[in-house]
Amino acid sequence: MKERVIIIRYAEIHLKGKNRGYFERLFSVNLEQSLRGIRHELHRMSGRYLVAEFDEAETDEICNRVSRVFGVHSYSRGLCVGNSLDEIFAAAERIAPNSGSFKVETHRGEKRYPLTSMQISAEIGGRLMEAFPSLRVDVHAPEHVVYLDIRENGKALVFGSFEPGPGGMPVGTSGRGVLLVSGGIDSPVAGYMMAKRGMTVEPLHFHSYPYTNEGAKEKVVSLCRVLSRYTSVDRLTTINVAQIQEEIHKKCAAELNVTLLRRFMFCLAQRYALEIGGQCLLTGESLGQVASQTIEGIASSNAVVSLPVLRPLIGFDKDEIIAVSRQIGTYEISVLPYEDCCTVFLPEHPAIKPKLSFIEEEEGKLDKEALLESAWESRETIAL
Ligand code: ATP
Ligand code: MG
Repeated sequence: MKERVIIIRYAEIHLKGKNRGYFERLFSVNLEQSLRGIRHELHRMSGRYLVAEFDEAETDEICNRVSRVFGVHSYSRGLCVGNSLDEIFAAAERIAPNSGSFKVETHRGEKRYPLTSMQISAEIGGRLMEAFPSLRVDVHAPEHVVYLDIRENGKALVFGSFEPGPGGMPVGTSGRGVLLVSGGIDSPVAGYMMAKRGMTVEPLHFHSYPYTNEGAKEKVVSLCRVLSRYTSVDRLTTINVAQIQEEIHKKCAAELNVTLLRRFMFCLAQRYALEIGGQCLLTGESLGQVASQTIEGIASSNAVVSLPVLRPLIGFDKDEIIAVSRQIGTYEISVLPYEDCCTVFLPEHPAIKPKLSFIEEEEGKLDKEALLESAWESRETIAL
C-alpha cells in the first residue's frame, strides 16, 4: 500500500449491534460505488476504511465523492506508514506546518505499543521542533494539530485535520421508498433526507403531457441526477396524469382539483411501490405550506393507500428546506421555470379543509379504475 491515503471513519453503524457486519458491508459497497471510475484500493481497518493506491491528482475528487456517502462521519487526507518512531516522524514531517503553533495528538488503537500516547506525542513533537525551528508548541489553542493514530496491524496513520462527512446511515440499510418527485424545491430535499437515513429512494414523477412539455420532465431528470450523487438512484419512472386531470376538471368541484389529483397520484405511487418492492411513499409536503398540505389534505391522500407515507419535511419552514437544497445542489435546478402538472388546471380557490365525505362524493363522479389503469399503462422508466 502506498503511503498516501484517505482515512474514512463511519458514524452510527456501531449502534446496530448484531447488524454491524451487514451495515459495514453495505457501507463499503456504497463507498466502492461512489469511487467508480477512479483507480484506488479500499482497505478495511477496525472502525475505519482507507482509500489507497490512487493518483495524487485525484485526491480532491475522491474527497468530494466520499463527502457525499451517507454513513461517513469524517475523513482525513493522510499517510499510512509503519509504526516505528522513525517512520512516524518522517510522515509527521510531511504533514506538519513549518511555522506557527502546533501540538501532536496521539491515539493508540494498539495498546501493546511500547510507548504511551503522551510519550509518542512528546517524542514526535520534539523532533518536529528540531526540524522546524519556527514551530512552537501550544497544547491549548494550537493553529495546527498533527494527529497520530497507532493502529493494530503495525501501521500508523498520520494526518492534519478531520473533514466532516454527511453523517447518516448507509443507503440500503433502511428499506426502499417511492419518492413522489416534482420539479419543485421540496421533494428532492425529502429524497435526500430519507437517503440519509439509509433508505433506497425510487423516484416517480407525474406529468401532464401535452399540457406540460418535455422541459418539465428534463428538469426532474436533472434533479434526480443530483440526488444520485448521494444515493443509489439510477432510474426515474414517469406516469402521465393528463387524462385524470382533464376528467377531474370536467366533472368535479373545481376547489377539489388538487386534492383529487393527489389521491390519484398516491394510488399510482402505491401500485408502483408494490411492483418494485417499495415499502412506503415519500413526499416533500410540509404542514400548512400550501392549501393541499393541511392536515385535512394529508388525511385525504393517506386515506387511499395502505403503505406508510413518510414526509420528512413536515415540520420544516421553507427557509430551512431551501438551505438544504442549496447545500445538496438541487436548488439552482428547482428554481428554473417549469410547469408542474398540478398548475395546469389549478383552481383559483383550492379547498383548504376538504371534508372526506365531499371528496368521496366528487370522486364518485369519475371512473376511477379506468383512469388509474390507463395512467398506469403510460409509465416509462428513464435510466439516469
Ligand atoms: P415540491 O417543491 O416538492 O414540488 P411543493 O411545495 O410545490 O413541493 P406541492 O406541489 O403541493 O408542494 O406537492 C406536494 C408534494 O406532492 C411534493 O413534494 C411531491 O412529493 C408531490 N408531488 C407534487 N407534484 C408532483 C408531481 N408532478 N409528480 C410527483 N410528485 C408530485
Ligand atoms: Mg410542487
